[in-house]
Amino acid sequence: MDPETTTAEHEEVGSIWRRGSGLRAIVAIHSTVLGPALGGTRFLPYASFDEALADVLRLSRAMSYKAALADVELGGGKAVIIGDPAVAKTEALLIDYARFLDNFEGRYLTAEDVGTSQADMDFLGRHTDFVTGRSAATGGSGDPSPLTAYGVVRAMEAAARALWGSPSLAGRRVAIRGVGKVGGALAGLCADRGAGVIVADVSPAALARVAADVPEAVVVEPAAIHRVQCDLYAPCALGGALNGATVPELACQAVCGAANNQLETPAVESAMAARGITYVPDYVANAGGIINIAYERGGYDPDAAREHVGRIFDTTARLFEESRRSGETLGVIADRLAEARIASSGAAG
Ligand code: NAD
Repeated sequence: MDPETTTAEHEEVGSIWRRGSGLRAIVAIHSTVLGPALGGTRFLPYASFDEALADVLRLSRAMSYKAALADVELGGGKAVIIGDPAVAKTEALLIDYARFLDNFEGRYLTAEDVGTSQADMDFLGRHTDFVTGRSAATGGSGDPSPLTAYGVVRAMEAAARALWGSPSLAGRRVAIRGVGKVGGALAGLCADRGAGVIVADVSPAALARVAADVPEAVVVEPAAIHRVQCDLYAPCALGGALNGATVPELACQAVCGAANNQLETPAVESAMAARGITYVPDYVANAGGIINIAYERGGYDPDAAREHVGRIFDTTARLFEESRRSGETLGVIADRLAEARIASSGAAG
């Protein structure tokens, strides 16, 4: 591992290779200042070890910021397993991985991510204590998606109040890209609040579920959803939805969605601001999942989790207020607030 790439920012990075099971994994702990470093295990066929390392370093840092602004007692971490989960994910590999997680003695807690499932977390949980996001049947908090969607709608309500004077979404038009677990739930929450909902997805099954739950939703082609004339655009599919090609075509007043890593590069936020479009940082709007997991530790309390997720409204409102004062974008302010919380806890601890 090249120490130059690991950056002095991270507290700890560990990797493992086990010939027997074929496990090749990296755990990156960015910060434990606020609590144990939490972040999912991403299982992907990375082209190289260096590519996997760059991803896990970037993602673990982002988790520190998300946890800090969500006001939970968790730090930032992430893990990657290199390989195609469809063929490489065996019980032997997961058992080796669970033992690898034990080495961190709770400084890193894993969870589900791209390429891993709740069933994988339940399996890992039989071999290590350092797993979160398990099914409700095994004492975990279950699928976080409904609470993630609730957090996004609270961020939308804060945006509505800042931009249009009232938090009500009634009569607003919301365009949702990707109506899977989070986007589908979000479509229902927006419709319940009286918003007009426009959706797109590449999956006919996902669209069929929305048609059943929200019959009034209008469906457009995936390539056209970012161009829809609307008040709020919610990217809820994969990352990179906001880029040099899509930003000039956006026809919304604000972007507020669940997808991680919506901005292809940080400069995209400035390009949106230049067009008068406000970007609610993805890690602020989609923090419902991590907040939910924070309430799993020591016995899951769903009511307390939901109340805390609802406070995403206040966090988002604060970003709008500071932006009005300073003229900075919400993303710049959010990063600064997250860094300040970590720094002040570090200084106190
Ligand atoms: P999901 O896989 O259930 O849903 C994603 C949906 O996007 C799918 O229906 C898929 O068909 C669709 N999609 C893929 N490519 C598309 C395209 N080009 N155009 C339109 N639709 C497309 O995933 P999810 O759990 O709903 O998560 C959605 C996003 O939110 C992800 O970026 C995830 O990282 C992020 N997120 C999820 C949670 C959570 O609690 N599930 C928490 C935080 C962040």
